[in-house]
Amino acid sequence: MRATTRLGIMGGTFDPLHLGHLVTAEEALVQFNLDRVVFMPAGRPARKTDEDVTPAEHRYLMTVIGTAANPDFEVSRMEIDRPGVTYTVDTLNALRDVHGPHAELFFITGADAVWDIVGWKDAERFSGLATFIAATRPGYDLDAARNVHAEELARIDIHFIEVPALAISSTDIRRRVAERRPIRYLVPEAVAAYIQKYRLYREARQT
Ligand code: NAP
Repeated sequence: MRATTRLGIMGGTFDPLHLGHLVTAEEALVQFNLDRVVFMPAGRPARKTDEDVTPAEHRYLMTVIGTAANPDFEVSRMEIDRPGVTYTVDTLNALRDVHGPHAELFFITGADAVWDIVGWKDAERFSGLATFIAATRPGYDLDAARNVHAEELARIDIHFIEVPALAISSTDIRRRVAERRPIRYLVPEAVAAYIQKYRLYREARQT
């Protein structure tokens, strides 16, 4: 039994959750020797306040049913129950309060989401709060991105993992549903059934 808890926090909009997210979380769990991964659907994502985002309760429930089979995965309501715009620093502070000083926090998200991190609320506090794990899609030019974002990398502890399954994207899933194309084998079966039952994503979106 370890004296510290290594807690993964899987941050995202999950609109919807897909197999790429599950593979990313599993990869982070193993590579970083985490005790468990808590999926954290954003309530009102900070960069999408003007965008059309599916109601948080639907995104939360899809995340619950899509992760249910894995005993190392949990889902938190923390961000969807917190009023206002969702800021990662508020979540990390709340988790630090709950788990105490001996927990190590690892915030996992997509590489494209993480690059503007120095502009996130209270970003100067991140280095003491959590390690960041950024997942890249196949074909992602990490060397080029590292050059462009040298400033962010110097200030914040960011590690990268390549996840081939991230060829799947939520944007593509939504587009497929709107075009009546199949999403089987791209999302967990229960998530596909949920999308059909609640007739989500049937209208084409701009984003
Ligand atoms: P996003 O812009 O929707 O995502 C950017 C890219 O990263 C997309 O390709 C997305 O693919 C991928 N991605 C997102 N989450 C992922 C995950 N957990 N694993 C693997 N790939 C992922 O990102 P977002 O959902 O708005 O934000 C991501 C996280 O950063 C959230 O927890 C959000 O709250 C946080 N954030 C915080 C601030 C702040 O505090 N100011 C600002 C921005 C973001 P898919 O669409 O397929 O997921």
